[in-house]
Amino acid sequence: MNCNGEGKLVGYGCPGFRRIELPCDMCDGTGVAPAWQADAVREGAGLKARRRAADRSLREEALRLGISPVALSDAERGKIPSADWPVALIIDWAGSVGAPERDL
Ligand SMILES: [Zn+2]
Repeated sequence: MNCNGEGKLVGYGCPGFRRIELPCDMCDGTGVAPAWQADAVREGAGLKARRRAADRSLREEALRLGISPVALSDAERGKIPSADWPVALIIDWAGSVGAPERDL
């Protein structure tokens, strides 16, 4: 995960380039990824790879799917369970893994 099991992310911020620690947003600071997350991360990565292969920006893709860029970004990073993905994303993902996609 983001934090390599440490539960926190370390960065440097203003003012004065001081060291800051933030709870990891992938595991909520626990250092342990929820069970659903490995799947969501893998599926999200596939979604992102497909978007990039199509040469679409996050914004363009979100617009195309009819969801917010934030929701798409979260899904691509595995921040939300795939079961909670917006419908448009699920249809898109199903298409990307070769499941039949009905014409609308
Ligand atoms: Zn973490």
